[in-house]
Amino acid sequence: VPELPDVEVFKQYLNATALHKKIVQTEARSRKVLEEVSIKRLESDLRSRRFVSTHRHGKFLFVRMDDEQWLVLHFGMTGFLKYFKDMDKDSPHDCLLVTFDNGYHLAYDCQRMFGEVHLIDDVDAFIESRDLGIDALDPDFDLQAFKESVSAKRGSIKSALMNQSAVAGIGNVYSDEILFQAGIHPKTTPSRLNEASLKSLFGHMKDVLQTAIHCRADPERFPKSFITPHRGKEGACPRCEGALESETISGRTSYYCPKCQG
Ligand SMILES: [Zn+2]
Repeated sequence: VPELPDVEVFKQYLNATALHKKIVQTEARSRKVLEEVSIKRLESDLRSRRFVSTHRHGKFLFVRMDDEQWLVLHFGMTGFLKYFKDMDKDSPHDCLLVTFDNGYHLAYDCQRMFGEVHLIDDVDAFIESRDLGIDALDPDFDLQAFKESVSAKRGSIKSALMNQSAVAGIGNVYSDEILFQAGIHPKTTPSRLNEASLKSLFGHMKDVLQTAIHCRADPERFPKSFITPHRGKEGACPRCEGALESETISGRTSYYCPKCQG
């Protein structure tokens, strides 16, 4: 499931491939992801435009066009971007296919259809309308703001980290990784975390997300100290070599080490 690091990698990919090229055609192949914008409007509003810059907030990617509208992409469960020339390699699951005047295409693929596409004029208004909290990697998001965002939340610290209104960008996989690195059990009540634990959690949140982006959000490239590559297998803890446990927390399967995350 694309989380902050994955979407940041999509942003970098789009920046490196699809900016400043004239759009000659847009095909929208899925009505389901286009809730608020009609296929007709999308096709006509993108025609002859160029993508000029990008912005990411949490798990949303905003692509600015040269008429100052923004195309908003959310990648749902399995979405990704693909820039290519050869139509034969086109996946049948493309939701949105943008064709440029150089003959290349940018496909927004979301096979499981839980993604979203919007056309908007105002990024801040969109963020507010979706009640999104500050982006986890925003330079202004400091320890004090982090404490205010999560420490009063009810439920578990894992669900507080995944709450997009508290902190935007973190989902199931990266909340587990951040909690593992900080040595905190995912079911801990936020109000029971002391100053040192909150400081450690905040530091590991920034570090895990930045490291994941540096590794192109590919678990195979993650440091050996990360728990993520051991998910879903009968994995051993990379720190103590004990067996990892999994448990459903806030409706999601969480992986943790019962020894290291006391
Ligand atoms: Zn361990």
